[in-house]
Amino acid sequence: MPRARDVAREVAEQHDVCIRPIALQRLDTHTGHREIIDVPCGATLDAACPPCAKRNRQLRMAQCRGGWHLDHEPTITPDEPNDEQRWLIEFRADMQAKRDQTVQAGQDTTDLDAIITGLDEEINTAGIRGNVLAGAGGKRNRSTRRRQDAPDLPQRKMANTTLGRTFTSSDGKSYRPSLFVTLTLPSYGKIRDGVPLDPDTYDYVRAARDALHFSKPVDRFVQNLRRVAGYDVQYFATVEPQRRFAPHLHMAIRGTLPRAEIKQIAAATYHQVWWPPADRAVYEGDHLPVWDNGVGYLDPDTGEVLPTWDEALDHFDADESAQPLHVVRFGAQVDVKGVLAGTPDADQCIRYLSKYLTKSLGDWNPHNRAQRQHAERMLEALQLEPCSPTCANWLRYGIQPKGAKSGMVPGRCRGKAHKPDHLGYAGRRVLVSRKWSNKTLAEHKQDRRTWVLEALGQTDEPPDPHRYVWKPVPAGDANVPPLAVRLLRAVAERQRWRAHMALLQAQAQGQDHSATGEAA
Ligand SMILES: [Zn+2]
Ligand SMILES: [Zn+2]
Repeated sequence: MPRARDVAREVAEQHDVCIRPIALQRLDTHTGHREIIDVPCGATLDAACPPCAKRNRQLRMAQCRGGWHLDHEPTITPDEPNDEQRWLIEFRADMQAKRDQTVQAGQDTTDLDAIITGLDEEINTAGIRGNVLAGAGGKRNRSTRRRQDAPDLPQRKMANTTLGRTFTSSDGKSYRPSLFVTLTLPSYGKIRDGVPLDPDTYDYVRAARDALHFSKPVDRFVQNLRRVAGYDVQYFATVEPQRRFAPHLHMAIRGTLPRAEIKQIAAATYHQVWWPPADRAVYEGDHLPVWDNGVGYLDPDTGEVLPTWDEALDHFDADESAQPLHVVRFGAQVDVKGVLAGTPDADQCIRYLSKYLTKSLGDWNPHNRAQRQHAERMLEALQLEPCSPTCANWLRYGIQPKGAKSGMVPGRCRGKAHKPDHLGYAGRRVLVSRKWSNKTLAEHKQDRRTWVLEALGQTDEPPDPHRYVWKPVPAGDANVPPLAVRLLRAVAERQRWRAHMALLQAQAQGQDHSATGEAA
């Protein structure tokens, strides 16, 4: 007999209902009424279940469409925080408190750190600008000689606009062309059927480092693009996996530039990783640094304290002959396509942009032996690469990781980047510039909600941002019904809506053949 929970999950999935809902307690400050409400997992944390991932993909497509061919400047005004943002911030504060307690108790904070990083990202996407604890860390000032030079590229005078140019044809019609660009990483060795022809010569270390730092050259590409284009170029981009497991980037760009210039910018863009050397192991096997409470990590033989992350960077900065640990560049293969607003071509690009958003970067076929081995080799290379300043792998290279704590073992960092689902790239899968459209993703969600409510003949309640107080519900809370019950309730609710929508649509079509509307 299948378990009720599994059946409920299957039914939920068939109806596009979230299968990992997060229970939240909502206090209505007007009535004093407390209620447990299920929030779809995809609305908060990054790790969405398949139905949420599908829904998020649809929202992303709407967001991409919304900004690509804008013909007026978007007005960007900070919004009142909404319920979701409020909840995220409160949750973030709870997690911070928990982390502080954990630190005091001398316990491992890796999991909490991962949650906090994820929450910070979510808070930013939810439309709140900046870091909640802005200024707490403080950025290092790197010596100026390390500043990455603006490459030798043409430079236009900056115009204060985010819009591309309009062209008028001889028959008076105006066109607003935009671009669809695909950037790939370079070759690490010949590939056939998605796997290296010769795994022994394939450059796994370079592939691993490029994947780890992939988001950085993307930022620089945009900076260079703006300088060359001479206006505040806006973009909507997705990071997707290639079969060889290298991340690549699809980017919808508002406005147009000559194809040759885009290629020139891609070729001139690079990012230097100014981290201490991590090529020769200082400690490995059983010969590892030892932790001393209140002191830090020591050399196992001499008892000497290893340099901290900051000391290592200071030392490295003072060394005139120091070289960057790694330099990331794009590959020669740059695809540039001109796209006109409202054409089937534009729609196809949008679908293509979001095609693999629901797939993880390391999605391989376990039955394909060559592919499995390729993934294993990639993971092996990633296992010893430092993924961030806090990575335990720095111990292998004789440096105490930033925020060092007891129990760190090189090769056993729990950062996302080392995991099979990520294969080096732990950054965001969707990158959207601030002035892409008038709306944040949260606002796009709100739009859909309002539209459905209007179609149902209900008005969305006027948003009183102070009405509700949200609180996370601890696991195992007796007021939360079993998951199967919650899933089936959500399915029933969804079916009720769908039936109602279908009825409304039928009525509307009966009255007016030109009635249009987005399918719910
Ligand atoms: Zn979900
Ligand atoms: Zn790591």
